Amino acid sequence: MKHTPPLRSLLFAVAFATTATLTAQPSARPPNIVIILADDLGYGDLGSFGSPNIRTPRLDAMAAEGQKWTNFYVQPVCSPSRAALLTGRLPIRSGMYGAAAGASPKVIRDNAADGLPPEEITIAEALKTRGYATEIVGKWHLGSLRQFLPMNQGFDHWFGLPYSHDMRMTAPREDGLHSAAYYAPKPEYWDVPLMRDGDVVERPVDHRTLTKRYTDEAVRFIEQHRSGPFFLYLAHNLPHIPLARSPEFERKSAAGLYGDVVEEIDASTGRVLDALKAAGIERNTLVVFSSDNGPWLPFGPHAGSAGPLREGKGTTWEGGVRTPAIFWWPGAIRPAVVTGIGSAMDLFTTSAKLAGADVPADRVIDGVDLRATLTSGAPSPRHVLVYYWDNELRAVRKDAYKAHFITSGSYGEGEPRRERNPPLLFNLAEDPGERRDVAAAHPDIVADLVREADAHRKGVVAGPPRFDRLQ
Ligand code: MG
Repeated sequence: MKHTPPLRSLLFAVAFATTATLTAQPSARPPNIVIILADDLGYGDLGSFGSPNIRTPRLDAMAAEGQKWTNFYVQPVCSPSRAALLTGRLPIRSGMYGAAAGASPKVIRDNAADGLPPEEITIAEALKTRGYATEIVGKWHLGSLRQFLPMNQGFDHWFGLPYSHDMRMTAPREDGLHSAAYYAPKPEYWDVPLMRDGDVVERPVDHRTLTKRYTDEAVRFIEQHRSGPFFLYLAHNLPHIPLARSPEFERKSAAGLYGDVVEEIDASTGRVLDALKAAGIERNTLVVFSSDNGPWLPFGPHAGSAGPLREGKGTTWEGGVRTPAIFWWPGAIRPAVVTGIGSAMDLFTTSAKLAGADVPADRVIDGVDLRATLTSGAPSPRHVLVYYWDNELRAVRKDAYKAHFITSGSYGEGEPRRERNPPLLFNLAEDPGERRDVAAAHPDIVADLVREADAHRKGVVAGPPRFDRLQ
């Protein structure tokens, strides 16, 4: 290097500095990783994602300081969504689906005999190999028998619920999803336990206190592990029904009870970011905020909004699976609005790469590495997305175009199941609401997406279904 002209050295140094911002991390001190997941929060429920009346100043600032992803995807309901996020794999591969046909995709029931297979590798397990402290605060919903609990999937500790807080309902369910108990909920209407590690600490849980207690726990974990590295998975139970919030958020939102609940989650996120700053570790921590699926629309004013997107939770229309996503890491993330495609499965691969951990080579990993997009604004490496409903491949997206092969509304309340042959085709860049079928004008694009679907089906080995067997 001593004969290198000074200018060339300088250029090399500049180039190295820009490309090495993140790739240098594993050899230095790997970053902390915080994933905050709301439950049933819709695409249109944050101010920065177009909500007209829910105030989310902390999440909006987080989006402005970091990256706001407008084409970020999850699975259509809770359990498969959480499995995909934590393992970087399509739920069909791990058997995280139900085989029995129904009005909506299945989740793991409170009396399920199965859970996420222990041999699946979660983000927590991958990061453990690099010495991370790991904690889940909040909803698990990947199996409630002891052998399926978070401590058997790489988490040192857990404070939260084993499943949704609307399970084990003891109140009359006289009118299905429209039963009165959902709209005037009391904690005793649901026999749901709050757990610390493997022990029940409260039953029934007072769901009005959950967001506050989860936030307190998350802040305490950050303070105790400030020397890092750590992985914190903060999986809120809300704004899933039954809705509830702390007294200080009651009747504060212009958007009613649902707005109060989301505004408490916004404040909670602010407390997490403040705790990172107070600990002096915000420049060494990636924080991701998203939701597990779209809004549960049959609950009307107790549900969120998918904004301009069609339908909601339980469908493979965009409103079911496209969620708000925000990436925040001061000094490392290049602030931007990213319109390229991202998936919650990519959080597995990206987290493993950031930590310097191995991405498993003995199985198919569906996640891709988003580091270049996060740090340099490079286009997202993801161009293809498959949409599953249980084990049924219902749609495929490639860049702007999405073909639907099977459609239905959710929870038996929308349009019935319909096979689409020829498929419906939408240009999501121009028509995110999926209103104008353009298949007739683009037979070449339809044929290409049919080929993608066929190739995908041929390559997938389905795990045996794990949601149907009960205790
Ligand atoms: Mg959910």
